[in-house]
Amino acid sequence: MGSNPTWGTFLRLPKTDRRESVARACEVRACALRNPGTATTLSRMHDIETRRRALTLLRDGTGNADVARRLDVPLGTIGYWKHVDRARRGEAPGRRTAACPRCDGRELDVRAYAYLLGLYLGDGHISLPRQRRTPSLQISLDDAWPGLQREARTSLHAVFPGNATCWIRRTGCHDLKVYSKHLPCLFPQHGPGRKHERRIALEDWQREVVDSRPGDFVRGLIHSDGSRIVNWTEKTIGGRTKRYEYPRYFFTNASDDIVRLYTDALDRLGAPWRSRRRATGAQDVSVARREAVALLDVHVGPKY
Ligand SMILES: [Zn+2]
Repeated sequence: MGSNPTWGTFLRLPKTDRRESVARACEVRACALRNPGTATTLSRMHDIETRRRALTLLRDGTGNADVARRLDVPLGTIGYWKHVDRARRGEAPGRRTAACPRCDGRELDVRAYAYLLGLYLGDGHISLPRQRRTPSLQISLDDAWPGLQREARTSLHAVFPGNATCWIRRTGCHDLKVYSKHLPCLFPQHGPGRKHERRIALEDWQREVVDSRPGDFVRGLIHSDGSRIVNWTEKTIGGRTKRYEYPRYFFTNASDDIVRLYTDALDRLGAPWRSRRRATGAQDVSVARREAVALLDVHVGPKY
């Protein structure tokens, strides 16, 4: 803790936040000079939650003035928050934008990318906003599996090392979000309409990644649109009852293209599969043979 004779006691902030706190203190001071008595109220107002909401709006393309009005925060503060956020993401004016494996030849973490591509094809969505605003990728991850949420964020950081990620809380799940101008380079499958209503084909370089890391690609697809289910039965042999478990992997998707990418990867791993089409048109692909399940357990395993 530290104290300031004019502005009262304040918490000592981590190093990275000090520059902002200085700017904020200046702004609070300036406002207090104009309107005596409002400083304490203002400093309380700019809590972490307000800032988080402001950044979410700004990243979605809402104008500074609009965000300032909606959150009742001074326009100068919004501008400063936006500047710091863009600088952290390497997008501040005058700075080099974050390098891209496709545009600049930066090295791509193929393990993380294969997994992320599976997550994206299963349950991801790319928004391309109008004008020159930054595209975003959003992946929904169930709150029941915190380990999967951590793995997704780690993979996203590995593929987009220069870009900040954020979580958006929804009912029963969190959306993991990243903003980058290079999302369309890395996920060229983006297009209008839903994935099962358009053709999904991998580019040659993506095919090479998936062929070299089929287990990671399958893990991403199962973590988003699949499951590992354990059926069991009891058998009595020699007067003793024993429980037998039969784990199976299921993957369900409405896109024949995505199902084919999944089954091609299973073939590459050497895991036999069977598929069944539902009345809705979606396909269920099951992996049930003992040795195939054991193989997928090495690459995927139960959700966690
Ligand atoms: Zn690029």
